[in-house]
Amino acid sequence: MDKTALQNKMPEKLRRLPEIANNLWWSWNLDARQLFRRLDYPRWRTTQHNPMQMLHEMNVERLEECAADPAFVLYYNKILKRFDEELAAENTWWKTAHADVADKLVAYFSAEFGLHNSLPIYSGGLGILSGDHVKEASDLGLNFVGVGFMYPQGYFRQRIPSHGWQESVYQQLDMSQAPVELVRGENGQPVKISVKIGDSEVYTQVWQVRVGRVNLFLMDTDVPENDPWNRELSARLYSGDNEMRIRQELMLGIGGVRVLRALGLTPEIWHMNEGHSAFLVLELVRELVAAEHLNFHEAALRIRKKSIFTTHTPVPAGHDAFPFHMMEKYFHDFWPQLNLDREGFLNLGKYREAWGEAFNMTVLALKMSGQANGVSQLHGQVSREMWQSVWPDRPVAEVPITAVTNGIHVPTWVASEMRQLFDKYLGADWMDHHDEPNLWTRLTEIPDEMLWRTHEGLRSKLISFLSDRTRRRWVEGRHDATQVLTNGGFLDNEILTLGFARRFATYKRATLIFRDPERLKRILLHAERPVQIIFAGKSHPADDPGKHLIQTVYNIAKSHDWGGRVAFIEDYDMHTGRYLKQGVDVWLNTPRRPREASGTSGMKAALNGVPNLSVLDGWWVEGYNGANGWAIGENNQYDSQEAQDAADAESLYRSLEEEIVPLFYNRDRDGIPRGWVEVMRESIRSNAPMFSMRRMVKEYTDKLYVTAIKS
Ligand SMILES: *Cc1c(COP(=O)(O)O)cnc(C)c1O
Repeated sequence: MDKTALQNKMPEKLRRLPEIANNLWWSWNLDARQLFRRLDYPRWRTTQHNPMQMLHEMNVERLEECAADPAFVLYYNKILKRFDEELAAENTWWKTAHADVADKLVAYFSAEFGLHNSLPIYSGGLGILSGDHVKEASDLGLNFVGVGFMYPQGYFRQRIPSHGWQESVYQQLDMSQAPVELVRGENGQPVKISVKIGDSEVYTQVWQVRVGRVNLFLMDTDVPENDPWNRELSARLYSGDNEMRIRQELMLGIGGVRVLRALGLTPEIWHMNEGHSAFLVLELVRELVAAEHLNFHEAALRIRKKSIFTTHTPVPAGHDAFPFHMMEKYFHDFWPQLNLDREGFLNLGKYREAWGEAFNMTVLALKMSGQANGVSQLHGQVSREMWQSVWPDRPVAEVPITAVTNGIHVPTWVASEMRQLFDKYLGADWMDHHDEPNLWTRLTEIPDEMLWRTHEGLRSKLISFLSDRTRRRWVEGRHDATQVLTNGGFLDNEILTLGFARRFATYKRATLIFRDPERLKRILLHAERPVQIIFAGKSHPADDPGKHLIQTVYNIAKSHDWGGRVAFIEDYDMHTGRYLKQGVDVWLNTPRRPREASGTSGMKAALNGVPNLSVLDGWWVEGYNGANGWAIGENNQYDSQEAQDAADAESLYRSLEEEIVPLFYNRDRDGIPRGWVEVMRESIRSNAPMFSMRRMVKEYTDKLYVTAIKS
């Protein structure tokens, strides 16, 4: 059913429901979520909270029934009013704090955006960060536009058969059931632009995603003008070889600028979230050279002032780099348009990789940006060391890469049960002030019982969500008995639950906790004070070592001697992620320092009163205060990986044995673990404001965007 047919099916009294469903604003507004829940609760669950799909599937009778229910219509009208008011608001933070530059537009480029499960165009942390950034830009009223790809097949869905080796499944997204709209020009035809990639012009159409007040424009090369292989160009996220990668990045950077031009938008600031989009600076220089007949250096000087680059990867091999022959193939007729010769052009990205000299996207972005930053203080430091060679005449401390520590979008990641508790004790308008540390001192007013019972409710909700999910797959014949077990069949509602969910890359050391299996068994299988661990996470399809880690954990989960105390939940995504981070008791994180640039999942846990047990890496170096969770290892680097693993594992076991397990099970007469509740409270108080996306976007705006606008 297309969107016109959907509109025709709507009762007059609920005429604008599709409009609300089509703006992801609903996803972080609790009252709007309630609207769709009330509309059709069973479908709300079976569609994994996808209002667009719900509206398509619902029959007219149920819609008419709601339209005939005065209470429902009243509620609908209330939401509609809020929706209209918020979208039109003039008193936003941006317009108030930065009135003098309020009309300037910020363009934000990212290869992935994690906004909601119904739009699966993200793979992990980077994408969620972009999605959260866009939502907060909307909340703060920034004049902001996002640019990326609409991957019709998205990132893969993970299946793990009982042998434990991850399989990838790609599903075609039904655009009519996703919150996206094809952008059309005045003639009613889809807007298209093209980029010359190799020997052919490659065309792209554009999908618009409404995220509150902000628009996101996503390119999609699946159009009839293109050859079959180019139609596939944007089919999937991060699949294919280096050749595919450079072609995608050409489209993202150069095509992205052209899309904005075609839509009549004129950004003042260009923010590259990771190096994937860095070719955009070349397009900006090309435009300027063509329009004003400047030489490269004059044009570059101007573009640099308006370009901002955020790097995310503290490992050299994690940065995209292309061999020179590939750059020649794709850019030989581009560099003359920049008034550069071959050598001058290649120098923009020249970097010595482990395998030889190549064109590095991060080097290009660093050279062409007036401001650059890492995503935590430690990562800023690591990046200055790593990229010092780009500024050979400067000492490390003067390498111009600053740090803005990541954050999370609080309305998206706070559990609705916690949110209601905060509404009651922090004041009904707490959400408007959630980045102010003072607000959170009022947490002391929440009685221990309330905080604890709310958390216990969330743990139960997690366990029943997981068992429902695997039961459904069992009934559909998609899970065998082993998979029912590994996916949480024996999880217990009452016992201390650790959560570990993230991408399975080797540096994240998912199996560190199994380093001394006998010692861990004594902890997990303790008769009075048992512990269980829930794992989840995908490995990149080409990452066999990562898949080995999954298999190792999986084999443990299904083995008799681990007593059903270890689970591996397949197909980790935003939906399962929300339940996990809200419902476990402790969030475990064991990266090999300093390779976790920031990490954000621990922030989501902390906000919900789930303390972190984490290596002092990324954000946790800044977050940990001695009373709001636990640190694994010390605040320093190790010479050998073996020594680091041994020391971290020892520290992890000690924390569990001596502090965490005893504190959790130390209950008073009312069954409340008072000491534990204090850690929960401190976890929220100290982390929620600091690591909010609001603090982060304000920092980007005040430090970087406004500085660039005024330069
Ligand atoms: C927050 C989040 C991440 C990022 O997790 P890290 O621990 O920071 O790597 C990845 N995937 C999903 C689904 C998330 O919600």
